[in-house]
Amino acid sequence: MAWEKEREIVSKQYDCGHCGNSLVSNKGYTGTVKGSNAWIYVCHYCGQPTYFGPGNTQFPGAAFGRAVASIPSEEVKSLYDEARNCMKVNAFTASVLCCRKLLMNIAVSKDADEGLRFIEYVEFLSEKGYVPPDGKHWVDHIRDKGNEATHEIKVMQPEDAKDLITFIEMLLKFIYEFPAKVKKPEPTPS
Ligand SMILES: [Zn+2]
Repeated sequence: MAWEKEREIVSKQYDCGHCGNSLVSNKGYTGTVKGSNAWIYVCHYCGQPTYFGPGNTQFPGAAFGRAVASIPSEEVKSLYDEARNCMKVNAFTASVLCCRKLLMNIAVSKDADEGLRFIEYVEFLSEKGYVPPDGKHWVDHIRDKGNEATHEIKVMQPEDAKDLITFIEMLLKFIYEFPAKVKKPEPTPS
C-alpha cells in the first residue's frame, strides 16, 4: 500500500494495532490537533496508518496478550479475543468484565458451580491446581483487585485489564495449549 506525499518524520517505536507487529517507523505525517502536535505513522509491515494524538494516545491501540492455541470452546476463544481487542480502543473496564466472565466460563468447564462470585472462581481454579505453585501470588493479587470492585462496577485502569489478561493467558496455555501438544495416553481398558 502506498500513501501520497508520505514524509520522513521523527521515528517512533510502537505496536501496530492492525497487524500486531512491533516496529519502528519514520514514515507518515505530522500536524497539530487542538494546539498540540500529532502524528500519523504508516506501518511498514501492513501499510496501515496509526494516529498518535496529544498525550501520546494511540489509535488503534495494540491488542494485549498473546494468541493461545487449542482452545476447545468457541465461547472461551471469542471472549479471550474480545478482552484482548478491547485494549485497542482503551476499553479497559469492558476488558476486565470480559475477563471475569471468561474466568467463570473456564472454571465452570472444570466443574465449578454456577453463580459463584468472580473471585471464588479464581480460587477454585487455584485449588484445583490450574495455577502453578510460583503463580499463587497472582491469585492474591487478583483477589485484592477484585475486592475493590465487588459491589460496584468501577472504571478500570489499563494495568487492571493487563493483569487479568496476563493471568488468563497463563491459564489458557496451561489448561488447553500445553496438554494438546502431546496426546494423552488412552485409558487402559478394564
Ligand atoms: Zn501493521
